[in-house]
This record gives sequence, structure tokens and C-alpha cells, in this order.
Amino acid sequence: MNHTRREFMATMVGAFGAAAIIMATPSRARACMYGTWIVRCPKGHDDEVTEGTCQHVCEKCGTQVFSGNVVTVVCTKGHANRVDTGDRMTSWKCSNCGTECRRDSEQKSRRDPPDRGRPLG
Ligand SMILES: [Zn+2]
Ligand SMILES: [Zn+2]
Repeated sequence: MNHTRREFMATMVGAFGAAAIIMATPSRARACMYGTWIVRCPKGHDDEVTEGTCQHVCEKCGTQVFSGNVVTVVCTKGHANRVDTGDRMTSWKCSNCGTECRRDSEQKSRRDPPDRGRPLG
């Protein structure tokens, strides 16, 4: 009597199983951040990264800044935040002062170059 029901359940399980595999395959844990950030290497050097990056080697000492998914970003006020970027991090609020640690969003609004290139006289 509950033959069809059992079949239905089996179909559901099969569908879910397939979906789980599809979801799991492409998202291999990769630490990535997008935008402009100041990252701090384990030895205390600050580096600027300007593009999406999943790996960054300190320009001063050659140390890998990422430790797995974890990287230290520095907010505009100099607070170091140890964060897990996960798949893609596009925003991070400083845990000390709440400032957005991503730099380029700020630059866009603030950079207003004085437009006067006129020679004197
Ligand atoms: Zn370094
Ligand atoms: Zn801060």
C-alpha cells in the first residue's frame, strides 16, 4: 500500500544526495578576499592587497600572510583583525572600532582630487 510512498521517498533522497554532491564539489575551501585591504604578515609587516586574492606573500619578508582561511586585516585606525575569510570576503567591520576594514570603498567617496592645474599668473 505504501509502495508508491516509499518510492517517492527514495526519489527525494536521491535528489538530495545529488544536490549535496553538486553543492560540495565546486566550493573547495579557499580563502579569498576581494577589494583593497591592508594585511599584516605574521612578522608584523603591513602590505596592501588591491585585487581579489586567496594567497599573499609579504613583500618585505616573503612570508605567506594567509594561514589557511585566516588572515590578519588592519582597519583604518590600525587595529589588527584576525579573520576567517571563508570563500569570499568583501567586507569586514573592525572588531575594535567597527570601521570597515576594506579600503577601496572608503577611498572612492573620500578621494576628491583638487582640480586645479592652472599655472600661477
Ligand atoms: Zn613580512
Ligand atoms: Zn579598528
